[in-house]
Amino acid sequence: MSTETVRPPRQILMNPGPVNADERVRAALTGPDICHREVEFTELLDRVRDRVTRICGGDDDHAAVVLTGSGTAAVEAAISSAVPPGRGVLVVDNGHYGRRMHDIAQAYGIPRRLLELGWGTRIDPDMIGRELAADERLSHVLIVHHETSTGMRNDVRAVAAQAHRHDRQVIVDAVSSVGAEPLGLRTDGIDWLAGSANKCLEGMPGLSFVCGSRAGFADLETLPRRGYSLDLHRHYAAQETAGAPAFTPAVPAFYAFDVALGLALDEGVAARGARYARLAERLRAGLVRLGFRLLLDRDDRAVSLTAAALPVGISFATVHDGMRRAGFVVYPAQESLADGHLRLSTMGTMTAADVDCFLERLGALVASAPTGETR
Ligand SMILES: *Cc1c(COP(=O)(O)O)cnc(C)c1O
Repeated sequence: MSTETVRPPRQILMNPGPVNADERVRAALTGPDICHREVEFTELLDRVRDRVTRICGGDDDHAAVVLTGSGTAAVEAAISSAVPPGRGVLVVDNGHYGRRMHDIAQAYGIPRRLLELGWGTRIDPDMIGRELAADERLSHVLIVHHETSTGMRNDVRAVAAQAHRHDRQVIVDAVSSVGAEPLGLRTDGIDWLAGSANKCLEGMPGLSFVCGSRAGFADLETLPRRGYSLDLHRHYAAQETAGAPAFTPAVPAFYAFDVALGLALDEGVAARGARYARLAERLRAGLVRLGFRLLLDRDDRAVSLTAAALPVGISFATVHDGMRRAGFVVYPAQESLADGHLRLSTMGTMTAADVDCFLERLGALVASAPTGETR
């Protein structure tokens, strides 16, 4: 078979979300027009909130608040709502999204201590303990679970254990891990977990969520409000008590998310993680054969994303444009890695055949790249 004829039947998204979704998820988008303050939406909202809570490893003592907005909205809602006045945050920064958590706190004038570890550097949980012991003011630790800028999976459980030992809380950005990486409100001791519909949960873009304990949500009522439309207690009260969202929701995205969550629960987080891991292993082995260099130690790598250095002499633009023509979207790296690196997601309905096709086309591209091209 000539490589020119090998082309997937659909565009394969290897950007880390939105992902190629199951046809049943897409079909759900065309559900009926409904009013979000009538019983049909209340039932849908209750079911979605319950399913999200279960995916996050919560039980009857936990709840979810679903927001219309991207993953950043959920992270921002948690940070801006949970930190009491006069207290501050300890931010673990080992990539782009850790820094974003810091920048959100900064935008709200929340005092913060930034632990700038360097991209792809493993966290020392004892250091978290020492920092917390040294500053009474810090009430929350902010940490990213899967740092999508490098593909690194951070040890949230160890960091949460340190936080709780010092009687503090953790806010976790699990946007690119929830649904595929093992992580639980109960098992990992997470106080606030922010996630979104369109990454490992394989829903459509437009929805995100914050999960926490019911007691934690209730406690927010006593705190002064920093924001309005991202005020977590406002959303909790509306969704929990009134059974309706505070503001107009993205109804079609809810239809799709409901179906996507059903599929995720049927498959199970462990099985989905194993499916992504098989794709990632296949992809990584192929990349190494083609002269790409993988980032991070094997144990630190998340299943849903692979970051790699391009072979010398091959530019990102060459790979991007060539693979676009072949039906694949590859993703650039950010900031310090922007030069000479790329990122490839293994989320969504991608198959082993898609990965094989990708590697075959990439191999042809690398072989035909003009020598002497700089990266
Ligand atoms: C994708 C992502 C986000 C949120 O991005 P949005 O564009 O707001 O959906 C936040 N944190 C991490 C780790 C992510 O991967």
